[in-house]
Amino acid sequence: MAATIIDGKAVAQGLRARVRDEVAAFEAETGRTPGLATVLVGEDPASAIYVGAKQKACAECGIAGFDHRLPADTPADELASLLDELNADDAVSGILLQLPVPPQIDGTAMTARIDPDKDVDGLTPLSAGRLALGMPGLRPCTPEGVITLLDAYDVELQGAEAVVLGRSNLVGKPIAQLLLQRHATVTICHSRTRDLAAVCARADVLVAAVGQPKLVTAGHVKPGAAVIDVGTNRTDEGLVGDVDFDAVREVAGLLTPVPGGVGPMTIASLMANTLRAARLQAGLRSPA
Ligand code: NAP
Repeated sequence: MAATIIDGKAVAQGLRARVRDEVAAFEAETGRTPGLATVLVGEDPASAIYVGAKQKACAECGIAGFDHRLPADTPADELASLLDELNADDAVSGILLQLPVPPQIDGTAMTARIDPDKDVDGLTPLSAGRLALGMPGLRPCTPEGVITLLDAYDVELQGAEAVVLGRSNLVGKPIAQLLLQRHATVTICHSRTRDLAAVCARADVLVAAVGQPKLVTAGHVKPGAAVIDVGTNRTDEGLVGDVDFDAVREVAGLLTPVPGGVGPMTIASLMANTLRAARLQAGLRSPA
């Protein structure tokens, strides 16, 4: 039987609507408006599209957007000063430095400069440490979006065999941590994993975050597994994931499309994180 296709757009829309309602309730309670500052250095067209989409989502959710665009030749100390200002600005609940940054700037060091309480991308060392230790904190948006999708489709994670393809700090590692927190038995694969197909075929939940078009084929998938495709690869065929969609849909139980799967969840999770940060800064517990 063909897999059920996960509708990431619908789940993301639902999350955004919930954030919009909770932003209104937060304003009524505190008299404050959550704010998200995005910082884009340079004119990378893909990054400009992402930042534009994030600002648009802010407007839809009632979050104040602060859109900082700096020239590609901005010196590192100027960017550092801007981040320091945003850290100190009470109107800014969350700060997102769009990566990658131009070569004169160390993206990891600049990200680490962001106040962890405003780290809505969940990428500072403190946020990563909190996640690793299972402490409360802001989680990276795409990994959080993956878990939200699995929950939306009632995928049992406790005790499940979960295999994550990819071990990046941005995606693979935090997804694995979140799955572990939910009591899955987690295996992380990478470019040096031996017999990748055999490891993947054990998975009840398979998450591909590799950046290789159609790497995951039917032979990698256990019948009935939930398969989440994080990959976004621009090819001659257009945007494709890391999963061979047509082949895998015949074997999997649940499958995300690309586009329309994980992608929309990233921005919705960013909105949820901005509200969460605003609540924490106001001394309120997060509702979810
Ligand atoms: P990355 O930093 O390049 O990491 C890729 C990971 O995949 C690495 O751990 C690498 O292993 C592993 N890998 C590469 N080739 C492999 C192979 N043949 N077999 C097994 N593992 C392999 O990429 P990323 O930032 O994690 O992103 C991964 C994908 O997700 C990309 O397509 C990216 O565009 C996409 N993405 C999508 C969203 C979204 O919102 N939908 C957000 C972020 C990223 P090594 O560590 O051994 O090199």
